[in-house]
This record gives sequence, C-alpha cells and structure tokens, in this order.
Amino acid sequence: MIVVMKSLATQRQIDHMIERIEAMGLKTHVIVGTERTVIAAIGEKRDGTKQALESGDGVDRVVPILAPYKMASTEVRKERTIVRTREFECGNHKIGVIAGPCSVESEEQIVSIARAVKKSGATALRGGAWKPRTSPYSFQGLKLEGLKMMATARDATGLAIVTEVMTPEHVPIVAEYADVLQIGARNMQNYLLLQAAGDAGKPVLLKRGPAATMDEFLLAAEYILDRGNQQVMLCERGIRTFEEHTRFTLPLATVPYLHQKTHLPIVVDPSHGTGKANLVATMARASVAAEADGLIVEVHPCPEAAWSDGYQTITYDAFEALMADCRRVAEAIGRTI
Ligand code: PEP
Ligand code: MN
Repeated sequence: MIVVMKSLATQRQIDHMIERIEAMGLKTHVIVGTERTVIAAIGEKRDGTKQALESGDGVDRVVPILAPYKMASTEVRKERTIVRTREFECGNHKIGVIAGPCSVESEEQIVSIARAVKKSGATALRGGAWKPRTSPYSFQGLKLEGLKMMATARDATGLAIVTEVMTPEHVPIVAEYADVLQIGARNMQNYLLLQAAGDAGKPVLLKRGPAATMDEFLLAAEYILDRGNQQVMLCERGIRTFEEHTRFTLPLATVPYLHQKTHLPIVVDPSHGTGKANLVATMARASVAAEADGLIVEVHPCPEAAWSDGYQTITYDAFEALMADCRRVAEAIGRTI
C-alpha cells in the first residue's frame, strides 16, 4: 500500500502513521516529496489494511501498489536512483561504463587494463576473481589473490572495482575489496546471496538470469532493496532462445520497459549478450540509444590469449572507438558518458 499524506500533514501525523503501519507488522519506506510525503507500507497483504490506514489523521488516500515488486517500482518512487561509487556514476542521464577483462589473470594484466580503459573514459573496472564457469575444468579464477590485484589496480587508477561474488559466505571478503558486488546471471535467484549482498551495504550489479522474466528480475532486486540497500543496478546480459548465431539473445526493449517499471539504473552487457567481439560495439551503441544508464564491456590487450571469454572480448583500440561512438550517441539524446 502507499499511504499518501495530505500536503499539510504535520510531522507528528506522519510519525504517527509510521508507528501505526509498523505496529501492523509492515515495513515502512518514507518518501519526502516537495508537495507531500508518502509512506510505502510493505509486507504481507491482509484484509482491512487499506480501510484501517485510510482513517488515519492527515491521510489523504491509500492506494495499493499493483506491481509484485514494491521498493523497485516507479509506483513507490518516481525519482531515478543514481548509483555512485568513487568516480563511477550511473543513472538519470549519466552513463557509467564498466570495462575490463572477464577474469583477473595477473597484477600486471589488471593494472595495465585498468590504465587503458580509464584513458578511454571508463569509470569502473570489471574483473572476475571467482568465476562461475560452465565446466568445472575451466579456469575458476584467482579468488582472493585476484581481489587483491583488483584493489591494486584501483589504487593505481582510482577506478571503482566491480567483481562477482558467488556465495553468501564470500560476501564479507569480496565487499572488503570491491566497490560494487556483481551477482552473476546464474545466481540471480540465489535468495540468500541477494540478502547477504543487500546487507553488505555496497552497490550491487544484478545480472538478469538467462531464463528470468522481468518480474522475476525485479523481484530479485527487491530482495536486495528489502535489506535497506538502495544502490542496485539491473544488468541486461541476454537470454537463452532458439537463436544460435549469438551466444545469448540481447533484448534491448527491456531497457525502456524497465525504465517504465523501475527507478533503478539499467546497465547492458553487450559482451555476454552477443558472445561475439565483432558485434559488441554496435550493440553498445544501440544500448546507449535505448537509454541504458550503463555498459559493462569485456576488454583485453590480446583477446585471443584471454583466460576466459576471449571470443567476446574487444581490444584497447576497439574499446577506444566504442567509447567515442557511444559518446556521440549519448550526446544526441541528451545524455553524458
Ligand atoms: C561475467 O560478467 O563475466 C559473467 C560471468 O557474466 P554472467 O553472469 O552474465 O554470465
Ligand atoms: Mn565473461
């Protein structure tokens, strides 16, 4: 329910309503607007709640939240969420670019990539330390050593670092080093992981599961928001379809759709979304044109020698060109990178 207070409601009346809602076993989320205050009352639906709240002093009206997700919904919050950490900023017309290798391979590798992508305009560095691989025989990541190398690259460049966390047990250690916790596509519905990431208090990049619907995606984000962590970015990274010409199918209509349904920033991953290096730049430009708030791109000095996902990874020169083109597209639609 959304409890819309009268424009002249006093702070006492607002506090009283918060108390009443909480006494009903519901959580409150207060949004102070320029005109009036609204209180979102979130929790299990019970008969009579609407009527009980409507009679409160200073209450104008009580409206149900129609979407299954609540805190993520534009029904509850119209103002766009901006995720900020270090120089990285994503949301509300500001496009944040996260670039780097699929996996951290060595200190020298990650520091040199960080310098290169920063020079081209990235504000965050990606790099997997724990890697979710389809085969148990594929490279699984440098783990803690990889995290430390990411931190060294941050010290060298000032870039925010984005890295994946695969289990709730790893959240404290990953959060100690990372600026943004990435939750991978395979883990989008790992609810204990979502809650632990919510509790860590660091921004989260939540990737869409390859078979997840939009409601499932937004409800996964809701698990993080429900823990009091508002700094969530949704990442469209492609879904599984009958198509075989690309690794996944990258549906860009999800970007404007999500903008209608949620205030959270939307990031697109054209690397995993296509699985083909020669399609990445075009889809990055298309993502910006579709009003994506961010991009996450795999970059490596020598993609054919990368330890993972080389076939979808672009070179420094290709990334430089991608950024120049995306900047022009962004400018054309009144956004900045
Ligand atoms: C990644 O970003 O390297 C990754 C494994 O992504 P996803 O979870 O989208 O497959
Ligand atoms: Mn990858």
